[in-house]
Amino acid sequence: MKVLVINSGSSSLKFQLRNMTDHTVMAQGTVEKIGLPMGIVTLKAGGMKVSRDLHVANHEVAVELALSDLLETEAVGLHSLDEIDAIGHRIVQGGDSFDKAMLITEDVYEKIREYGAMAPLHNPAHLKGIDACSVMMPGKPQIAVFDTAFHQTMAPEAYTYGLPKQHAEKHKIRRYGAHGTSHKYVANRVAELMGRPLEELKLITCHLGNGSSITAIKNGKVVDTSMGFTPHEGMIMGTRCGDIDATAVLYLMQQEQIDAAEMDRILNKESGLLGVSGVSSDLRDIENAIAEGNADAKLARDIFIHRAKKYIGSYIAEMNGVDAIVFTAGIGENSIESRSDICAGMEFLGIRLDNEKNTVRGEECAVHADDARVQVWVVPTNEELSIAEDVVKLVETL
Ligand code: AMP
Repeated sequence: MKVLVINSGSSSLKFQLRNMTDHTVMAQGTVEKIGLPMGIVTLKAGGMKVSRDLHVANHEVAVELALSDLLETEAVGLHSLDEIDAIGHRIVQGGDSFDKAMLITEDVYEKIREYGAMAPLHNPAHLKGIDACSVMMPGKPQIAVFDTAFHQTMAPEAYTYGLPKQHAEKHKIRRYGAHGTSHKYVANRVAELMGRPLEELKLITCHLGNGSSITAIKNGKVVDTSMGFTPHEGMIMGTRCGDIDATAVLYLMQQEQIDAAEMDRILNKESGLLGVSGVSSDLRDIENAIAEGNADAKLARDIFIHRAKKYIGSYIAEMNGVDAIVFTAGIGENSIESRSDICAGMEFLGIRLDNEKNTVRGEECAVHADDARVQVWVVPTNEELSIAEDVVKLVETL
């Protein structure tokens, strides 16, 4: 079965074509700067990469370009669009309506639209990707794979905020979490690597990248996660503030006469590692600035490490223990120092790294000391594979 995975953003479209029968990635690509005067279309297949600059008017044109590149590039090995069996769409916000992947029917489409109010940067863009695929490949099964679905197992005490019930219920304000596809993938994968059933494990999965979230998974079910109503809560991130006293936000708005849209921009685009360091949202830049003696950069990184420890510690308490901690995404997979600093000082909990093993970047590897009670793993995430697997499972039932 061949599955096209699509991640449609407001001005970009990422795609991957996977052959789920022989487990190969046939091609992957991006269409960037959709709607701007000049866009970039990139395709990687069979060890080669081609990129061209051209105006991409809208998402329909983006999908058209992606499909024609897939067909016309010999290295892809696709001869007709009929060979594509189904399309999987990454959907950021599925609210409390979806705890698994869904065939995109009219009802599902409408729900994704409704939840657009809670994810204005994402859900409307996903719909554009779905619409474009409906035009270009009519009748092909399209499946929605929700970033929020894996987190739907949380208990009310983990997902409910202390707001008045009438407001919370009316506006569906609760913790939904995000990065669910990534947390689900690395949880399943680490169970395989450990040779133990997921249903028997207590795991803490740390998706640390430009966006970061940490999740507690007990017996295969999410019991808590650091992102909340939106992907803003929790960890300090590249440009996102993360946890903050809500009244500090109101105070700042009053003091500086800031409106809601501007405050949203400050919290999501100008805060985090970038806001504290004044250097960059990228951890590598922060680390370079620290090496040059920049105290603000050091503070930004210290907050990141401190907060990761705080979440890990609280999740161990929630689950009454932990069998393994998993690091994934850009920072989790590549930053040896971050893994080491996050795990340092938790020896009394049975967490201890092996400094020689903890030298890997971007590879599956156990990095804990042989005699440590808690296993620590690096598992590169693979959200596209996880989405494609959900698609295969669902399509087989149609
Ligand atoms: P992602 O959003 O998953 O692509 O992750 C992006 C983040 O990973 C950025 O903050 C990068 O600085 C960080 N990152 C990637 N490679 C490294 C590395 N070798 N060392 C430290 N951080 C890295």
